[in-house]
Amino acid sequence: MNRTKSAAAHARAQKVIPGGVNSPARAFGGVGGIPITIARGRGAYLTDIDGNDYLDFIGSWGPMILGHAHPAVLEAVIAATHDGSSFGAPSEPETELAELVVEAIPSVEMVRFVSSGTEAAMSAVRLARGFTGRDLIVKFAGCYHGHVDSLLVSAGSSALTLGVPNSPGVPKGCTADTLVLRYNDVVGLREVFAAKGDAIAGVMLEPVVGNMGLVLPSPEFRAELRRLTRHHGALLVYDEVMTGFRLAYGGAQELLGDDPDVTVLGKIIGGGFPVGAYAGRADVMKKIMPAGPVFQAGTLSGNPVAMAAGIATLKQLTADPPYSRLDRMGQQLEAGLRAAAADAGVPVQLNRVGSMWTLFFAATPVTDFDTAKTADAKRFARFFWAMMDRGVYLPCSQFEAAFLSAAMTDADVARTIQAARAALAEVAA
Ligand code: PMP
Repeated sequence: MNRTKSAAAHARAQKVIPGGVNSPARAFGGVGGIPITIARGRGAYLTDIDGNDYLDFIGSWGPMILGHAHPAVLEAVIAATHDGSSFGAPSEPETELAELVVEAIPSVEMVRFVSSGTEAAMSAVRLARGFTGRDLIVKFAGCYHGHVDSLLVSAGSSALTLGVPNSPGVPKGCTADTLVLRYNDVVGLREVFAAKGDAIAGVMLEPVVGNMGLVLPSPEFRAELRRLTRHHGALLVYDEVMTGFRLAYGGAQELLGDDPDVTVLGKIIGGGFPVGAYAGRADVMKKIMPAGPVFQAGTLSGNPVAMAAGIATLKQLTADPPYSRLDRMGQQLEAGLRAAAADAGVPVQLNRVGSMWTLFFAATPVTDFDTAKTADAKRFARFFWAMMDRGVYLPCSQFEAAFLSAAMTDADVARTIQAARAALAEVAA
């Protein structure tokens, strides 16, 4: 496959943009080589500037559940733009999208829009602290909540470690009130609540994790999270930036039957435009300024063009719900990839919920960050490029989830399995 124009574009970008990318996940750091530069996306496919087509399993890292340039979304965005793109004053589409979110997610009574998932997670932490009057936040190793200082904390291997920032530029003080636990660790959770429960403002987690590769929560873990937070008066915050409107219309919490206090949203609610939101119980949300004292603001928050994209996306998802078809395609893909790996003699763990999945090159089940790290990232890198050469664009890291889109067909799934069969045979050697 010829990728010379992408190579030149990346070299040019590197002179004026750090690393040539505006978000590190795009840099192919986990797989080596030069990132492809995209010219356009249509439906389930991306085309790079060399003219190569790829079946897209990244979907902008989650938002593009309808595929690229969906006609209904395009039309809504174009129409909204004609009326002006930002007012710094209320507009009706903000209320309309908030109403759609409230209807979609039973635990949500009120919504505040921001412009990214990072902003939403950061604001949810402030809200949890402002609401409870406490400082401690519990997070889980391997969960990502954006580049929020207080949440940018690496894992310790013990059940409980005091937060250590994992980026230069994050002062120790910023993470001193962040406690990191192992995902799915019920004992660790009980211990931390027994020791510090009455000082914990909130527990934030991805209810199904996408950011260490796809990892599922155990039922006991979820039940204990809800029981302990309720008992100690801490808020349970589900970060559904990836899973919201993805695993079900009402997100992971609908699929699992859970009832968090606060939900963090992003990606799909913006239909490919910059939107994040934090949402939840009215008594909690009414602490946000100007209804309450917890300050949070944004020049472009509730941007009418972005709201139009979100509204069009959610309306399409209710008019023609793709979830059962996505799950069926996911099942087919899972079965095909498992069989192909077995035939190639390559040990894998295929974790999947609905349209989100990760093929871990690991010999034993992946249930948390430590077990995720047992995966053979070098073998994944070879697999990634073998798939690229066959026109299938997977997330460029072993530790990310892949996404099916509603624009994909059974034929696309069959093509992916066929490509994987050849790629797995290649990496078996
Ligand atoms: N939370 C989760 C679960 C995410 O997956 C992401 C982004 N991948 C974020 C928060 C941050 O969102 P954004 O990149 O829009 O800031």
